[in-house]
Amino acid sequence: MEAQSLPKIRVVVRKRPLNTKEITKKDRDILSVEDPQTMVVQEVKQKVDLSKFIEKHTFTFDNAFGEDASNKEVYQTCVQPIIAAAFEGAKVSCFAYGQTGSGKTFTMMGPNPTAPEQEHPGIYLQAAEDIFFLLREPAYSGYTIYCSLFEIYCGKLHDLLNKRKEVHARSDAKERVKIMGLTEAPCDTDEELMQVINYGLTERTTGSTAANADSSRSHAIMQVVLRNEANKIVGKMSFIDLAGSERGADTSESNKKTRQDGAEINKSLLALKECIRALDKDQKHTPFRGSKLTQVLKDSFIGNCKTVMIANVSPGASCCENTLNSLRYADRVK
Ligand code: ADP
Ligand code: MG
Repeated sequence: MEAQSLPKIRVVVRKRPLNTKEITKKDRDILSVEDPQTMVVQEVKQKVDLSKFIEKHTFTFDNAFGEDASNKEVYQTCVQPIIAAAFEGAKVSCFAYGQTGSGKTFTMMGPNPTAPEQEHPGIYLQAAEDIFFLLREPAYSGYTIYCSLFEIYCGKLHDLLNKRKEVHARSDAKERVKIMGLTEAPCDTDEELMQVINYGLTERTTGSTAANADSSRSHAIMQVVLRNEANKIVGKMSFIDLAGSERGADTSESNKKTRQDGAEINKSLLALKECIRALDKDQKHTPFRGSKLTQVLKDSFIGNCKTVMIANVSPGASCCENTLNSLRYADRVK
């Protein structure tokens, strides 16, 4: 597909299947994909006389993927075109949004990222293969690929390729964001790129010294840059596995620290929504400063940029409220 004709924003939803635990608990599947763009939620409600009725909520997006959709299908439909756009100079980003357990990491990494054979290769692996396929074209001879991986936890940036060291972002006069001291790992092959990603993501989930043992409370950002012979950045790709979207709404948590995390995550997801919405509009008032997340991604929201948002949703009736919140969020972004 011609990169120029690609929309700036593409919003898709993806439903995961019910898991064994939900099936055992007789949780009901309340989500259906009515056509390739439409997802319907059947919310069970109670009247004052305690009788039950179903309220139907219909949402349309650029794509609605059901539980049978593979990572391959999701990648080829939404992400592959923006990878090509990055090689033509665009700054592209792909977000996985959704409540914890809805399938963000499954979509990004696949279920078993370090296995030698990938049955359901995630977006990272498929993108890595395409990046090095494109890099072999004569037009890009002498170009190089670098990868960085960091997380945002409680509004702070941590380098996942350097023992979670705290790093700080600056933006220059041309609005380019630079994260001072962030590791940029040069990669010569897709295998090397995947090794770097897997290393960083293991650091994310197992880093024992950090206070953050729970990856659902942090945003993980993987960035790949394409540099030309003069070492100038000519394309940038960001892949973001967002913190669980349920946090913001969760005011019941008793622990003060946990509540603050939730407020911070909520703030960043709201700022993200506003920044993506502004892509198609007058960008003068884009609220980049609303959160660390949008500050570090600022240059991916200005000028020649393409964004894909994959909203992941859980199918069970027990998740209905979070699912509706995610679908409403995605609906506001498009
Ligand atoms: P999140 O990162 O949003 O917290 P995960 O990606 O870890 O959620 O998914 C939670 C569980 O559901 C995992 O066991 C994962 O393998 C499974 N899962 C998620 N999406 C799918 C899918 N589309 N098909 C099959 N299993 C899935
Ligand atoms: Mg996850």
